[in-house]
This record gives sequence, structure tokens and C-alpha cells, in this order.
Amino acid sequence: MNKELSKNAQEANTYQRYVELGGIINENDYNSAFEKAQKKTVFNAAGVKQAEEIARYAGIDLNGTEGSPDKMIALYEVLRSDVNSDISDIRLFREALRMLGEVDALNKLKAKYHTNRPAGTYCPICGQTRYNEDCPS
Ligand SMILES: [Zn+2]
Repeated sequence: MNKELSKNAQEANTYQRYVELGGIINENDYNSAFEKAQKKTVFNAAGVKQAEEIARYAGIDLNGTEGSPDKMIALYEVLRSDVNSDISDIRLFREALRMLGEVDALNKLKAKYHTNRPAGTYCPICGQTRYNEDCPS
């Protein structure tokens, strides 16, 4: 992982901004996840595949604006393994996007999984079956 990019991301994304985007992870876990993601060099193939599949389904380009999917995938993997195993993968994916302040990608995720999901199904993020409500955490 490129250390410069990670450093910049950490400066640009504060815990306050994360909470404003609806983040549900506490500040200690948030800081520790960024630190661990930054040091991460070994990726779990299953985790990478999962992140890529969620991204592809939602139409999110993990290459983002900085030309590398590593940062997002590293965060997602750290959250999956360290933070809370009670939170579903799709919700951890959303937390990683919130941590990176990726508003466009968050909107795409919600549009695909919540707003435009097939009739008669429930949203895997919030678990609601109705359509007229927002997608809360
Ligand atoms: Zn939802």
C-alpha cells in the first residue's frame, strides 16, 4: 500500500466527518482501524473478492480517485476481522466508505441495495422491507 495516500486520507477524513456521514463505529475502533489498514500488506483473498463483488454490484469503482483499491479493501478487511463480527459484511463495507468520506459511493450503495432493490425483497443494509423510508444505520 502507498503510504503517502494513506496519510493523506487520514488527514482528510476525521472522526467527526465520519459520524456526520452516519458512522456507527466508536472513535477508538475508528482510529485503530485506520492504523491497521495503513500497515496492512497481506490481503485475505476471500475478503478482497467480497469487497469487489459488493462494489461491482453497486457500480462503485474501488479504484476511486487515487488509482488504488488497496485503501478501501484494507479498511474493509480490518473492520471484518477486528471491529465487530456482529455487523454484516455489507454494513462493514458501508462503514469503510464512510471512513474514507466516499459520499458518491455511499449514495450508489444505498441506491442499489435499498432504493432500487427488486420488489418484495428487503434491504440487506437496514433490513427494511418498505421503500418509503431512508436507509438508517
Ligand atoms: Zn436500507
